[in-house]
Amino acid sequence: MVDLTSQYQGIKPAVDSAITSILESAQFINGPAVKTFQSEMEDYLGVKHVIPCANGTDALQIALMALELKPGDEVITTSFTFIATIEVIALLGLKPIFVDVDKDTFCINPSEIEKAITPKTKVIVPVHLYGQAANMGEIMKVANANGLFVIEDNAQAIGSDYNHADGSKRKVGTIGHIGTTSFFPSKNLGCYGDGGAIFTNDEGLASKMRMIVNHGQSKRYYHDLVGVNSRLDSIQAAVLRIKLPKLDGYINARRKVADHYDNFFADIPGIRTPVRGDESRHVFHQYTLTLEGVDRNELNQFLAKKDVPSMIYYPVPAHKQKMFEVFGSAETELPVTDWLTHRVLSLPIHTEMEQDQLDHICSSVEEYLKVKG
Ligand SMILES: *Cc1c(COP(=O)(O)O)cnc(C)c1O
Repeated sequence: MVDLTSQYQGIKPAVDSAITSILESAQFINGPAVKTFQSEMEDYLGVKHVIPCANGTDALQIALMALELKPGDEVITTSFTFIATIEVIALLGLKPIFVDVDKDTFCINPSEIEKAITPKTKVIVPVHLYGQAANMGEIMKVANANGLFVIEDNAQAIGSDYNHADGSKRKVGTIGHIGTTSFFPSKNLGCYGDGGAIFTNDEGLASKMRMIVNHGQSKRYYHDLVGVNSRLDSIQAAVLRIKLPKLDGYINARRKVADHYDNFFADIPGIRTPVRGDESRHVFHQYTLTLEGVDRNELNQFLAKKDVPSMIYYPVPAHKQKMFEVFGSAETELPVTDWLTHRVLSLPIHTEMEQDQLDHICSSVEEYLKVKG
């Protein structure tokens, strides 16, 4: 699905020497590379505070911890996401309230959010799935009208621009009260291990989250809050410093692949290509088809035989996962989520794709459709 080896070859001398200099400095934790990366990321995103941490799951957990919620408080979110989004809600004793997604964007449907609000609702967690931003304009309206916090799970859409109705532009992940991301190697901005970060323009939340990532420490050995140990290590920060200036180029390379797929699949009945919303720039973490009248699972297996990887993100929506049985959420009616879960299929997309690979993938899909008549 991704080719991290070829991407590394393109930046190898810079990466190798940056890692070597960290090894020589022996400042593995909280070294200068982490601070520098932090401020470079703040500049790139146009956000006041970036708080690096150990991974994208921790980033979500720390964001929720900073909001001082009570057990049983409700968090409205999407079921059509990677499990981490919901797992941290459950881990903190909060209650996930699942609402349906929009068929075009795969993201939480703002008009469903309003209906799910109760006196216990405290937070909305939209997920910018596959690289496409949720409708943040509407989400912020609902949140502001009801006094709710918004945490954007931006593990999949880092670098995307969002155009607001008033003409202003913001980076996705910096629109809500807090945004989070992951630097897992296969993410659009990936390091060579685990990593993550939290974004906010709110001074108070930022200082609280800086303490939470470091055992709730206000100064050394003085602990004011229950926190965690969640740090981005210096080697990962050094790698990210090399990859951040390349992110926009990487996004363009992904968008080129998406353009090629879009053109190829445009007039094929039964195949719906990803919809690109007007408000944001799709950064194509995944290129995901919706198959109507084409057997998704059979196509997935046919492609595997042709050495074409394809993936189902995600085969079981969160509300039906066994780990959330206690919430009784399997009974929640999410018709669009359920419909999509049986029909989505993601094709390989990455920054180093060659024309002959693309041709092989496209013609393999075409061959399957011909076989099926
Ligand atoms: C990858 C991902 C996460 C978790 O990130 P990790 O760094 O793997 O912990 C959370 N949410 C979404 C939507 C993701 O894709």
